[in-house]
Amino acid sequence: RCGYVAIVGRPNVGKSTLLNHLVGEKIAAASRKPQTTRHRIRGVVTRGADQLVLVDTPGVDPSTPKLLGKVLNRTARATLDDVDGVVFVVEAGRWEAGDEQLAGWLAAGRRPVVLVINKVDKLKDKDVLLPFIDQVRGKLDFHDVVPLSALRGVNVDPLVTTLIDLL
Ligand code: GDP
Ligand code: MG
Repeated sequence: RCGYVAIVGRPNVGKSTLLNHLVGEKIAAASRKPQTTRHRIRGVVTRGADQLVLVDTPGVDPSTPKLLGKVLNRTARATLDDVDGVVFVVEAGRWEAGDEQLAGWLAAGRRPVVLVINKVDKLKDKDVLLPFIDQVRGKLDFHDVVPLSALRGVNVDPLVTTLIDLL
């Protein structure tokens, strides 16, 4: 199995940290799929015969004022519909305007979304985790929810399993 996955989330939630933990090799043409050139590949996760190609999604950063521009909006949405799955990264216990905006977008999209609740290691009170997950789950339908710590590499492997199952 081989497929494309976009990692989205507001700035500072830990997307780059997660990407670094996920990626074992950097290659330009991991797949012979024709749509490769339509995505900017950030890295590849290989597990046995399965391969996830992690791609950039232009314009999905909610801090970009141009997000409201119709053209960019259309480009990003087309990209999100062109991948096999989307990883929506949020920070445990912190829901902000950028998260809300992205959730609305993803709810309107056509691809399965896996919710990553990152930075669980930062939670002083672990009891806030379940209510927070419930809160976010109310925003849209998620294929799966994976709490993890990208920084410490905790629970990152189950995320890979979930994503491969999407393909
Ligand atoms: P991005 O803007 O979404 O790409 O976020 P970064 O990957 O650059 O991370 C933003 C900050 O959060 C950095 O200081 C990271 O070290 C920190 N960070 C990322 N993941 C975790 C995590 O799981 N736990 C903790 N405590 N900090 C994290
Ligand atoms: Mg980053």
